[in-house]
Amino acid sequence: MTVRGETIVCWCCGIPGPSSGAFELTESCYSRWLRAGKPRSGPPPHDPAKGKQARAEGLRRAREMRLQRYLKIRGECATQGEAAARLGVSLRTIWSYEQQIRERERTTRARPDAA
Ligand SMILES: [Zn+2]
Repeated sequence: MTVRGETIVCWCCGIPGPSSGAFELTESCYSRWLRAGKPRSGPPPHDPAKGKQARAEGLRRAREMRLQRYLKIRGECATQGEAAARLGVSLRTIWSYEQQIRERERTTRARPDAA
């Protein structure tokens, strides 16, 4: 959960905006989701004409921003539990971040450590 009104990166589209306080969605996406009848797939796309591709791109961007946010606080946290608490996500989510980081390290092994 995020604090209402705090600027977040929207979970559904990766666009920053004021938080609705629910599900890491911005106000506009959350209200669009309510209007659509709370579909399980999440909020409908901003622009239905662009449809799925825009949504997939938004999800990818949002995922990247979340990972970057984790990387930012990762070094400051003594445990993964602490990192999870700070980001307001589950441990399982932290593990998936760690997995993504490991996969990246594998593909960019030649690069010197950029910490
Ligand atoms: Zn959104």
